[in-house]
Amino acid sequence: MTHAPHASLLRRRDLAVRAAVEQGLVTEDRSPVAALLDVAAVREQARALHAAFRAVAAPDQPVLHTFAVKASSLVPVLRLLADEGIGCEVASPGELALARAAGVESAATVLDSPAKTGAELREALALGIALNADNPQELARLDALAPGPGARLGLRVNPQVGGGAIGAMSTATATSKFGFPLRDEGAREGLVRAYLDRPWLTRLHAHVGSQGIPLELMAEGVRAVHELAEEINAETERREGRRRIDTLDLGGGLPVNFASDAVDPTYTRYARLLAETVPGLFDGTYGLVTEFGRSLLAKAGTVLARVEYAKTSGGRRIALTHAGAQLAVRTVFAPDAWPLRVAAYDPKGRPKTGEPVVQDVAGPCCFAGDLVARERPLPLLEESDHAALLDTGAYYFSTPFGYNSLPRPGVYGYTVDEDENVSFATVREPQTVREIIAESGGAQRDALRGLMATG
Ligand SMILES: *Cc1c(COP(=O)(O)O)cnc(C)c1O
Repeated sequence: MTHAPHASLLRRRDLAVRAAVEQGLVTEDRSPVAALLDVAAVREQARALHAAFRAVAAPDQPVLHTFAVKASSLVPVLRLLADEGIGCEVASPGELALARAAGVESAATVLDSPAKTGAELREALALGIALNADNPQELARLDALAPGPGARLGLRVNPQVGGGAIGAMSTATATSKFGFPLRDEGAREGLVRAYLDRPWLTRLHAHVGSQGIPLELMAEGVRAVHELAEEINAETERREGRRRIDTLDLGGGLPVNFASDAVDPTYTRYARLLAETVPGLFDGTYGLVTEFGRSLLAKAGTVLARVEYAKTSGGRRIALTHAGAQLAVRTVFAPDAWPLRVAAYDPKGRPKTGEPVVQDVAGPCCFAGDLVARERPLPLLEESDHAALLDTGAYYFSTPFGYNSLPRPGVYGYTVDEDENVSFATVREPQTVREIIAESGGAQRDALRGLMATG
């Protein structure tokens, strides 16, 4: 079941590219590459998520949707999502600080990282942030902190239901580094015991995986988590007269279709599949938390880069653009797992027409593999044209690679009014050369010479 996008999403993208060129967002002086975010598309997707779960949840069943901050660690984006009723899933002190800078409440924040330090655990407890412990040693550290009854604490389990198409995105394989394994010898009994011993453990978390995981496998993982919660609750009910686990945290990972403009799968399809696979999930027994990242933002983002030069080498056409490994890290280093669509625009930002020509689209980095598309049929990209990397709203704007000291590009949100006027708001200024010097030890210029003098 594919949901055809509103035609206006594509129209808005073309208008935004044109306006970005006209308004000088991708000029030599400012920056030859920019990231554009369709604000209406983000809001639409957030609303689609709420609607999909509302349609299957029990009336009054608490459902907290959080956004996996690593997918777009930009304060204005987190604020936009918060306005749409979406909290934050954080996995580091930096991400927690960004969520707080965006004004996201502790009650709407979940901390999940696999290697939390003692200081992070103390901070999360002090702030009242929900936290999922990853392993027995972390649980022992929590024991030492003696959490109060109001703490919202759970364990992350690995349901070990298997992996998907991309190994690096598969968190529920038998040997994944994440969480308490559920199917290892004696693991289940150990988990039940962990809850019986700790009255403050009230939640259960699993994240089956991200891009490349079949929906059915995700639902199987959720089924395993629900079954375990039921088992633990039956035990605690027998011993303490109460069902202890009140909240299930369901991880993220809805795959994104990078092959066309269609939103596929939809949140509705996933929510319905969950309701069919795990009927008890939506009977109102448990509060639910979700942690979607990529699927909330991917389709809303476009990276727009100037084509600096176009050349031919060994018979291959190559467009040398300003979008490469410094922002499309996964696409460049794992091109088969992370292919991107490229759209061609002319020097004025109008869609390029013309017979497709097989060409490579290269980035600006000094290594031969810095290609965002190989042997791709596209209208021929020429000097001063623009190349747009589509579906790049998640993970591309905010997970840079510092190669060649290339600056992080500016990020601009846009809206389009009825008269097709485009308005931009700066989400992040392009990084300046001065900032690059500062983060590269510029203030410590003589540090190593000093060592030599005294050595
Ligand atoms: C990354 C992550 C997510 C979000 O995954 P997406 O594929 O971006 O939706 C959710 N939960 C946890 C624990 C994660 O690490």
